[in-house]
Amino acid sequence: MTKQASPLRSGSIIGILGTGQLGRMLSLAGAQLGFKTHIYGPEENAPASEVSWRTTTADYRDETALTHFAESVDVVTYEFENVPQETANFLSQFVPVRPPVRALDVAQDRLTEKNFLKECGLSVAGFQYIETYEDLQEVHARFDGQGIIKTRRFGYDGKGQWRMTPETDLKALLNEIDNRPAICEAFIPFDGEVSVVAARSTSGQIATFDMAENIHENHILRHSFVPTGLAESLKQQAADMARLLLTELDYVGVLTLEIFVCQDKLLINEIAPRVHNSGHWTIDACATDQFEQHMRAVAGWPLGSPNRQYDAVMTNLLGTEINHIDSLAEDEMTKIHFYGKHEAKAGRKMGHVSRLFKVGHRPDREGYKLF
Ligand code: AMP
Repeated sequence: MTKQASPLRSGSIIGILGTGQLGRMLSLAGAQLGFKTHIYGPEENAPASEVSWRTTTADYRDETALTHFAESVDVVTYEFENVPQETANFLSQFVPVRPPVRALDVAQDRLTEKNFLKECGLSVAGFQYIETYEDLQEVHARFDGQGIIKTRRFGYDGKGQWRMTPETDLKALLNEIDNRPAICEAFIPFDGEVSVVAARSTSGQIATFDMAENIHENHILRHSFVPTGLAESLKQQAADMARLLLTELDYVGVLTLEIFVCQDKLLINEIAPRVHNSGHWTIDACATDQFEQHMRAVAGWPLGSPNRQYDAVMTNLLGTEINHIDSLAEDEMTKIHFYGKHEAKAGRKMGHVSRLFKVGHRPDREGYKLF
């Protein structure tokens, strides 16, 4: 029998699969609501453990450890989409798992994801499954040589991706792909990349945060600017897409849509069944932030207001950039979030800052620099 039908009360324990900064910020939000969090993952001394009630350090396929974990918590959630589905299915025998396992199924495989989005009537870049040299030749012709190859699984921050151009040597490309199941997407000459973070409660209530415009550097998110300068009709369209997906998946928790803007069209790039880096600005700029919203939803509570009180620019602090602490701390409207990571490896997300501005006063993104 599974536990928990009514809203969780103070002192209840929320299990979180994954030990990184997202788990850390979920734990902090959970503590504010009176919950304890039990973190589960294979890493020792991870960012989430420092601020949580309990940590189990074990493999995601360790059924003994998973059983003990399930027995100790009232509900399970996750901070990353590559949680093995077997793990989520195993846990759901004992305890509710939110968001639902189906969301993992959709988000873990780019081909399943694209087909699902299309079936929902949403626009995505043209795509095709590729396996052989002939497939590559076919897709090369179909997309006029302009494509991006992506492995179906485990790609993130640009890993597992190859740009295809008219000049690409397709034999060499096939070697690089090295038999990993992959798709090719048409290359989209987009005007910008935006994201929408939205949440759905156990009772079906939906709340959507304002859209953020995201700037990437070396495939890693650099800044999120809020609000975007997009037309209201596009903002509404994005919120409607989020609503449709949340409902279709019978979703509980926070879901993120990454979207390409092409003139007056929105194409969904991918969805993430979790809180998201491009939603970190909500911590300081909104009445309820994405982490609290997620914890409210998984605990069976009503959602809070996502209303935005400031304009904001969120910037990730990568590697040794956290050493800029002195100058960052000098600005009283710069909110600092460090993740407690010990080693500042190049490109590693060590923390983020959100600079807050009066509504209507966000700086222009052209030439924006934090330091
Ligand atoms: P992804 O891992 O799918 O989020 O892709 C990483 C980044 O690659 C995106 O944020 C885009 O900047 C770029 N990208 C991905 N897919 C496409 C595409 N079909 N056309 C153009 N750029 C893309």
